[in-house]
Amino acid sequence: MMEGSAGLKHKHLEFTLASVSELSTSSVSSSSYTPVIARFSADGGVAELRFHQGSEFIDGFNVDLGNAQLFKLGPVKSLCVSESSETNKERPYSWGVTIEFRNEEEGRDFHSAFEQWKEEDVVQGTHLPNGAISASKSKFDNKIEPASAKMYFHYYGQLLHQQNMLQDYVRTGTYYAAVIENRADFTGHVVVDVGAGSGILSLFAAQAGAKHVYAVEASEMAEYARKLIAGNPTLGQRITVIKGKVEEVELPEKADILISEPMGTLLVNERMLESYIIARDRFLVPNGKMFPSIGRIHMAPFSDEYLFVEIANKALFWQQQNYYGVDLTPLYGSAFQGYFSQPVVDAFDPRLLVSPPMCHVIDFAEIKEEDLYEIDIPLKFTASVGTRVHGLACWFDVLFNGSTVQRWLTTAPGAPTTHWYQIRCVLSQPIYVMAGQEITGRLHMIAHNAQSYTIYLTLSEQGGILQTSSCKLDLKEPYYRMSQPQPYTLAQDQQPHQLLQAQDIPIHAEDLEEPELLQQPSENSGAQLQ
Ligand code: SAH
Repeated sequence: MMEGSAGLKHKHLEFTLASVSELSTSSVSSSSYTPVIARFSADGGVAELRFHQGSEFIDGFNVDLGNAQLFKLGPVKSLCVSESSETNKERPYSWGVTIEFRNEEEGRDFHSAFEQWKEEDVVQGTHLPNGAISASKSKFDNKIEPASAKMYFHYYGQLLHQQNMLQDYVRTGTYYAAVIENRADFTGHVVVDVGAGSGILSLFAAQAGAKHVYAVEASEMAEYARKLIAGNPTLGQRITVIKGKVEEVELPEKADILISEPMGTLLVNERMLESYIIARDRFLVPNGKMFPSIGRIHMAPFSDEYLFVEIANKALFWQQQNYYGVDLTPLYGSAFQGYFSQPVVDAFDPRLLVSPPMCHVIDFAEIKEEDLYEIDIPLKFTASVGTRVHGLACWFDVLFNGSTVQRWLTTAPGAPTTHWYQIRCVLSQPIYVMAGQEITGRLHMIAHNAQSYTIYLTLSEQGGILQTSSCKLDLKEPYYRMSQPQPYTLAQDQQPHQLLQAQDIPIHAEDLEEPELLQQPSENSGAQLQ
């Protein structure tokens, strides 16, 4: 029976149920003499469903309607499933309750009320430019899918991944040098470490004389950071670890300087730059410093016949017409497109570049967070050699604009390799260019809710036979061509611009083995890392 009124202007709405029980444990089943009440409410802007028996709310049975769904299991039985949420520690997994109604009609009413109140959650929320809508959720939750965030913070919660970054000595060493050489920017100042991970940058800032450092970290790594910082008490007494997202936590004072390592592949992958910008707006004093303060994406067309053939060959598996009696060819086209939609991550020889690079500057001190939702870069190059262009190579650098020393951290090809390597977007249809010819195009990147970008790349040449080639890639699904950090090395038998031509290679189903030449770590790579 409906005990409240259905009007959504009312603050709550109640239903009497036959019973409610938790799905996974069936532990609490409440159907005794005191009736169970389901109560919809929208206090504080969040639409919620809770259950109570008598005057007592049933503990842990609250459902956030913003991420819940209701399914009919029978005429008087339904299942309410609530998605796991990053912010609710007690409920790290999806969770559900089975609800029994006293009769069919009440069940129907409950279902329609559920949908209406769910909508209420949406209506009360803020509409964001990137399409996400919600009530009283943080800027982070509004744009990032919970499943993505969960995997992301699970990843960074593990020491092995922090170790991987700490062992990137180009990265960590450059941060260390930039901080220590610019003591003046830290001494006596309040610092916020945005996404502190193990806390290493906070410890560097403390070494440089910071008055106090707030180390904000959302993942479970915050606990390890506390441990590491407690174990370094002379520095640690000036560091406070705050567990939570920079979008959500509150700090007791403003920062004079922010330090962070928010860069992903192609600079913007992981969408953490947006968190860095939000931290700037929330915590930094006007005209405060940012370490780093700008980032640049560098781009140039490249020629790499070997890579092209390697990728094209991966799809050959689907050319088989008799795979245990099954014709696989209907999926060949999709598989081919699929392989070319993966950006290739590895270190390559800069001699594969067909023209001098151009760059796109992102000023962390100036940009708005929303400016990173869509990045549109017009491209224009002049080919230095006549060759086949197989796509666009990209890398980035960031600047520590210290008041004493300016220092760049670069991930350029030919420079010491970092764990970011470089990235190449490969066209499934290469274009031919002649020396001196102009190559134009567009790199259009659109942020998606899985903390990455969809990349639309177009390259054209107008000087010759007018060719245009386009591709769509998902930055979230890269092809890691190398597994260990190592500098670029050119395979002995491969000379730039004297490569095999794809069209010269007869492609047979027997040639299914992937070329492994470039995947093998070279013998001298360790020495060259020094
Ligand atoms: N500063 C450390 C870790 C860098 S990796 C170092 O330089 O070694 C980025 C870290 O930021 C990860 O640990 C990740 O969990 C954290 N992070 C990412 N987005 C965040 C956010 N919105 N709020 C708080 N921490 C975040």
